[in-house]
Amino acid sequence: MNYKGSCHCGKVAYEVEGELKGAMACNCSICSRKGSLLWFVPRSQFQLLSAQADVGTYMFNKHKIEHHFCRTCGIHPYAEASDPKGNPMAAINIRTLEGIDLGAVPVKHFDGLSL
Ligand SMILES: [Zn+2]
Repeated sequence: MNYKGSCHCGKVAYEVEGELKGAMACNCSICSRKGSLLWFVPRSQFQLLSAQADVGTYMFNKHKIEHHFCRTCGIHPYAEASDPKGNPMAAINIRTLEGIDLGAVPVKHFDGLSL
C-alpha cells in the first residue's frame, strides 16, 4: 500500500510504500518530547517529494540517526538511519500520515532505544 504524509504546513511531503501493521513509541530523550509514533521501513520504500532544502536535520548522541523536521512549521515527519546490519532505513512518524485511523494502529512501547 502507498501512503502519503506531510508536515503541518505541507512543505515537507513524502510517500511511503508498505503495510502499516504497527508502530513504536520510543522513550528516548527526543521521541518522548516529540510524541512520535514510528514505523520503520527500508529507506528504498520512502520517497521525499519536497526539496531537500526545506528539510532540517537534527542529530545528537552518537549522530547515527538523522531526525528530519520541516524548517517552516517544525513538525518531524521522518528520520533516517541504518539498521544494525547497515541497511538504510526510514522511520516514519505515523502521526504525519494522511488518511489512516491512528487509533487502530497497534503501538508497542519501546524501552531504551538509544537514538
Ligand atoms: Zn512544515
